[in-house]
Amino acid sequence: MAHSITILGATGSIGRSTEDVILAHREEFRVEAVVGGRDALALANVARRLGASFAALADEGGGGALKEALSGTGIQSGAGLPAVLEAAERQADVVLAAISGTAGLRPTHAALKSGGRIALANKESLVCAGAAFMADARRCGAEIMPVDSEHNALNQALAAGRNGDVEKAVITATGGPFRTWPRERIAAASAKEASAHPVWSMGSKINIDSATLMNKGLELIEAHHLFDLGPERLDVLVHPEAIVHGLVQWRDGAVTAGLALPDMKVPIANALRHRERLPMDLPRLDLAAIGRLSFERPDEARFPCLSLAKAALQAGGAIPTILNAANEIAVGAYMAGQIGFYAISEVVERVCSTFSRGGLDAPSSVSDALAIDEEARAAARQLLASADSTLR
Ligand code: NAD
Ligand code: MG
Repeated sequence: MAHSITILGATGSIGRSTEDVILAHREEFRVEAVVGGRDALALANVARRLGASFAALADEGGGGALKEALSGTGIQSGAGLPAVLEAAERQADVVLAAISGTAGLRPTHAALKSGGRIALANKESLVCAGAAFMADARRCGAEIMPVDSEHNALNQALAAGRNGDVEKAVITATGGPFRTWPRERIAAASAKEASAHPVWSMGSKINIDSATLMNKGLELIEAHHLFDLGPERLDVLVHPEAIVHGLVQWRDGAVTAGLALPDMKVPIANALRHRERLPMDLPRLDLAAIGRLSFERPDEARFPCLSLAKAALQAGGAIPTILNAANEIAVGAYMAGQIGFYAISEVVERVCSTFSRGGLDAPSSVSDALAIDEEARAAARQLLASADSTLR
């Protein structure tokens, strides 16, 4: 019988790869709902191609255009947050959560209620609401399957043993477009240069996070919540070829690792089905053709966002929530050309240190997390508006 699936963030980079996986296995999936942000036409087109029952657009103003674009198809539609939440809550075997940023938290959280499988790409949900989100998932009986390539690889590698026997779980980073650049050149880099990812083709926010290595920092926090591993058992390794995505070192000295060509369709297919394994008609990994794989330690001096995220993970409490919020605001300002590259880490550091003086507890619920997130955003915006010349 066909599995029902809902896609949150259907018009994005992960959404498009998910569509490819579904279209390659048309008879295996029935699409319940698709959700998009602002582009009504793009969403209507995905909904038509996938034969979805319902399409929801976050932007309320685009509701009319969506309805018109879907007229005569029998596909129901809605616009605004209530429609997005309705789409997320509809009964489905799998909900693929790929809205970008913290905007994904409420819809992803709403999707837990039906107690199915969540194929989770939206790492910001876990960084913002961490323990509270995971506790709600357990309570609802929802299974979280990581889509993020490193976590998907770790999930497979971790199946080789018991959590208590894990000495270290390592996620790899390509190092981003500035891996070999000197600090002065990075300092002057434009958002366009930062978006030129050497390996992956992704959405704009995660592209910038990959250039600062904040993405890897967020992923450490994500791994902590997904796999119940403390900061002392988590590490990052730079691996420009992006073939080995995650490694688990066991207490007997053995290492299990997850390898694949860098194509998000691989972890997406895995997260949709897990142990059953969907057959995928993709190029196969040919290690002899690649010849050599290289690894190096990340340089936290040139990429301070990584150390800030490590410190946030270590500090715990509400600091990861605050780090994530400040980062989103700073990345937005950088993309708008308002601040320089190193002002991103500067803003994150200053906002985190302002809040750490207050010693906030970890968010007790998703709404609590969103309230802290809002406060931290306001602090970051205020810092940016203060026209502090060191932030340019
Ligand atoms: P993207 O920007 O390409 O797509 C984001 C999607 O979310 C779009 O469909 C957009 O319309 C939708 N959206 C934006 N705001 C919304 C809102 N308020 N309500 C509803 N929908 C909204 O981003 P992406 O690269 O596909 O990344 C999505 C998520 O997956 C991110 O959390 C990212 O960190 C994670 N991720 C992406 C990749 C990748 O290769 N692209 C890899 C690992 C993890
Ligand atoms: Mg990743």
